[in-house]
Amino acid sequence: MARGAKRKVKTKAKTQKPPRNKNKGPLWVIKGGKVVRERETCPKCGPGNFMADHYDRTHCGRCGYTTFKKTGKIIPAKHKAR
Ligand SMILES: [Zn+2]
Repeated sequence: MARGAKRKVKTKAKTQKPPRNKNKGPLWVIKGGKVVRERETCPKCGPGNFMADHYDRTHCGRCGYTTFKKTGKIIPAKHKAR
């Protein structure tokens, strides 16, 4: 910055965004003393690893396994399931 130059104070207009609701409900519910899973579990990772439920597909965030609901097409896991 040059000598004597006035320092400009940058003011960023703050816009209030409504917080995105990430919580789409529980992954499981207890019905009659039994745990009922609301999501599919990953066939590669095994039970306990729920698949993300998208509008047209289910996807495992852990290994990348994807199943398309309409076509039934399967994209295999990127990584080796442990
Ligand atoms: Zn998986």
